[in-house]
Amino acid sequence: MPSALFAGCKPEVAAGPDGRILAVGAGARAAAGRGAEVVRLRGAAWPGLIDAHIHLEALADREVILDLGGTRSLEATLTRIERWSRALPRSAWVVGAGWYNDAWPDPAFPSRLHLDRAAGGRPVYLRRKDGHSAWVSSATLALAGVDQSTPDPPGGVFDRDDDGEPTGIIRELAMDAVARVEPRPTDADLDRGMARALAALARLGLTGVHSMDSARGFASLQRLHARGKLPLRVTYNLPLADLRHAERMGVRSGWGDAWLRFWGVKAFLDGSLGSRTAEMLDGSGTSRLAQGDLVDMIERSVRAELNVCLHAIGDGAVRRALDALQPRRRAWSKWRPRIEHAQCVHPNDQKRFGSIGVIASMQPIHAVSDRELADAEWPSVTANAYAWAALRRAGARLAFGSDAPVETADPLLGIAAATGWRRRAQWHPELAVTHAAALRAYTSDAAYAAGLEDEVGLLRPGFLCDLTVVHDGKVEATVVGGRVRWRRPGAASPQSASGARSRSSRR
Ligand SMILES: [Zn+2]
Repeated sequence: MPSALFAGCKPEVAAGPDGRILAVGAGARAAAGRGAEVVRLRGAAWPGLIDAHIHLEALADREVILDLGGTRSLEATLTRIERWSRALPRSAWVVGAGWYNDAWPDPAFPSRLHLDRAAGGRPVYLRRKDGHSAWVSSATLALAGVDQSTPDPPGGVFDRDDDGEPTGIIRELAMDAVARVEPRPTDADLDRGMARALAALARLGLTGVHSMDSARGFASLQRLHARGKLPLRVTYNLPLADLRHAERMGVRSGWGDAWLRFWGVKAFLDGSLGSRTAEMLDGSGTSRLAQGDLVDMIERSVRAELNVCLHAIGDGAVRRALDALQPRRRAWSKWRPRIEHAQCVHPNDQKRFGSIGVIASMQPIHAVSDRELADAEWPSVTANAYAWAALRRAGARLAFGSDAPVETADPLLGIAAATGWRRRAQWHPELAVTHAAALRAYTSDAAYAAGLEDEVGLLRPGFLCDLTVVHDGKVEATVVGGRVRWRRPGAASPQSASGARSRSSRR
């Protein structure tokens, strides 16, 4: 690979054959040298955007299952299920995700009887958009052995009608009962979905992601990596249930390479606002991890040099996470404890992020989707919800992401949500951040949150040459490791710079 000059954008950037930045700005042309490949671009060259919270395995699954995202009513959802089911064998499972009753004219939770009709009696398993509940058919409940006499499992609920019959809505850990019998896609299906999902993320301008998924997603990424098929950098976190495996293997945070790294474990302290399971200081919601178990998990992770990502949405769960992390201020140099979502933080706890050194890993687009729900469910606390600017002022380091597929992974929409949207929507506009702050949360601070702050996140000689080039509010090109991974069709055509060779740089 020759050196490359990314020209015409602001600033211009030169990359060496090793995919690292040689020079930025005025010195870039000279640094690239005469034999450099010249890539003509327009617009602003930002450090490559990193999504600090995404679910690659779920995105990959989404590519090969029934996608119910964007359906606007129960009827529209059922029509899509019916059409999908008709193409399947009589006894095949209908597996899907993305339905969202809060967006329907009548937001009442649907029932298994709807599915029994729409899917012709097949077993159906449909995860809700937020992944914290699922909608299943009668055949599915029968296969899972769930009936009137089945008790709710700890941390989970089978919704029931007046006669105590399960309605087909199952919440939180009750989903495990069904997930056990649900058929899984093959490795080949998963890899196909994963490759498609990654390509879609590169098109959105992402050069790196922090994924929170299970071991099968990690295995899939390793297979793609072995074939040289990763278009962007992935830092991977496994669920708490896999902590013991990581301990026994002796694998530590940062193991891997610049394309695919293992980072830590993710634990759920509570549920979600949408499923009404966020653990609040007023006592509402659901706790998914007892404090003693949380402290134990942190101690074990520190001993094994593994980082922790703590899912906490309600102000009660956030406080518990901070309490548990407080004694562990400086465990080792790349100890980067994170609270994922931190959607609702009590004002007294805001300063603790900075003082304990906890990263607030937040997804600005959630505020756009949740606004009405938050006003309804948390009327007294919305002034402290999605409080990006207040947390920043209090000294917290923010890492921004999307939580895709729960929300769109489009980072430009995330930046818009974090900056101008709150003013336009007149929803606690004082909590919006500046464009520069939003960009930092998607670049250098997201890099810090995965211990990569000396490698990516800044346009600086020696750093890996990852760029997101944005022109007229659209992604013009995505560059990872000094190579164009995606470029908008019909964008500026390649041209020769004086004395330099020019050719298509697409793989
Ligand atoms: Zn998530």
